[in-house]
Amino acid sequence: MLQVKFRREMSPAAPFSRTPPAPLIVQPVAAFSDNYIWLIHSPREPRKVAVVDPGEARPVLQEIERTGLTLAAILLTHHHPDHIGGVPELKRGSDIPVIGPDDERITVNTRIARDAEGVELPELGLAFETLAIPGHTLSHIAFWGHGSLFCGDTLFSGGCGRIFEGTAKQMTASLERLRCLPTETRVYCGHEYTAANLRFAMAVDPDNTACARYQAEVHDKRARGVPTLPTTLALEIQVNPFLRCEQPAIRAAAERHAGRALTDNAEVFGVLRAWKDQFR
Ligand code: ZN
Ligand code: FE
Repeated sequence: MLQVKFRREMSPAAPFSRTPPAPLIVQPVAAFSDNYIWLIHSPREPRKVAVVDPGEARPVLQEIERTGLTLAAILLTHHHPDHIGGVPELKRGSDIPVIGPDDERITVNTRIARDAEGVELPELGLAFETLAIPGHTLSHIAFWGHGSLFCGDTLFSGGCGRIFEGTAKQMTASLERLRCLPTETRVYCGHEYTAANLRFAMAVDPDNTACARYQAEVHDKRARGVPTLPTTLALEIQVNPFLRCEQPAIRAAAERHAGRALTDNAEVFGVLRAWKDQFR
């Protein structure tokens, strides 16, 4: 398995090289008050980019104009306006592909990405796997590839999205699916919510030293105006209470909050999510 994988990625100049390919260059573009639109630089065409979840067009247009980039594809994780609002203006008569979930509320996509299907953008040298991750919305998807995960509003650093359409059980399964990806996966989330999420994480899990350390780091980054993303799954597994529902300390905290015994991870998750919704 491993051999085949590296064979494909070998550079002809170094046939015995076992160096994995360089990570994608992914650049944040800030939008609204706390959204991130992600610009994925093509590993093949240095001036071409794909954009993920352009809720507004203006900051993307400014950035591609400033840097002389060309927008070559648009990827969408879910139908919320703060993730798709900029599509019509960015597309404006061009035939660039707009790839997103199968949802009649999204009328701007030209290609539907279905669960476990590949999304290939050969002109950009990019290929992703689509993962259906219902919960925040029912048709929410993530794009995974090149060691990177674009997960919209499902997984955040230190937290997760609100359950607007799905159930706690669905969201638990979706997060579990993401948690099973390789731990070194870089996670590009839709919002800069990390600091607020960690305040809640520390209330649930006060003895988590990894979380305390991370909180200090995040505080420092935000003070300097630096994005806290991408995060990694390895880190999230240590600090994010919503990925840690099976941990005795998390379950005990959720049971104390609920005032009753909880029987499974989805129930623990449901209590945490409702608790976070009220948490200030
Ligand atoms: Zn959303
Ligand atoms: Fe959002």
